[in-house]
Amino acid sequence: MNILIMEDEYSLADALAEKLKSEKFNVCIKTNGEDGEDEALTESYDLILLDVMLPKKNGFEILKYLKQEKIKTPIIMLTAKSEIEDKLNGLEHGADDYITKPFSMRELMARVKAVLKRTNNIENTDYLEFGDISLDLKNAKLKSCENEIQLSGKELEIMEQLLLNKNQILSRESLLERIWGYDSDAEYNNIEVYITFIRRKLKLIESKVGIKAVRGIGYKLEKMEGKNKNDK
Ligand code: CA
Repeated sequence: MNILIMEDEYSLADALAEKLKSEKFNVCIKTNGEDGEDEALTESYDLILLDVMLPKKNGFEILKYLKQEKIKTPIIMLTAKSEIEDKLNGLEHGADDYITKPFSMRELMARVKAVLKRTNNIENTDYLEFGDISLDLKNAKLKSCENEIQLSGKELEIMEQLLLNKNQILSRESLLERIWGYDSDAEYNNIEVYITFIRRKLKLIESKVGIKAVRGIGYKLEKMEGKNKNDK
């Protein structure tokens, strides 16, 4: 699981990172709002810890923007203030939880785990959908309006990741890490090969959904008008 920390107090950010790493999370720290927001928009995370008072762009502005951009990553706000307005402001704009500084690492871990459990449960569905396709996770079938096709294990996993991150670019690094794991020898070529297979299957079921390659970064699902472009 990948966690993004946006926190400008270096000592706190480091302490959070250390604790999360000890619990087997992968962690990225950004110490100003602009960098943090960019990171949240371009990489896929399972959770964001978002400080309110940040240089360049504050936590509430970031929260609002990420929600506006339909980023579904759960967000826990961190703040020094304990005022009720701050809490309401955060929750109103879609934060999943809220924790007031100073907090203990134990309390933080409890919140992190609770939010991950809750949000995973919500997404724990048998079908994922985008455009005219629906992915049947139980039976590994990709369906369009009128057709369906069986996916192999890796194709299913890749398609699942693309659908779970349908509003953002899924980087090749996160795909490799999530599907083949950190210590694997799998390379970017593997991903390209499977993406080619999946594009062929999308074409076979006559779907209007395509997989767009974002040069040097990764992949994103797109809805295509008119004829199918999965012939590459
Ligand atoms: Ca701060």
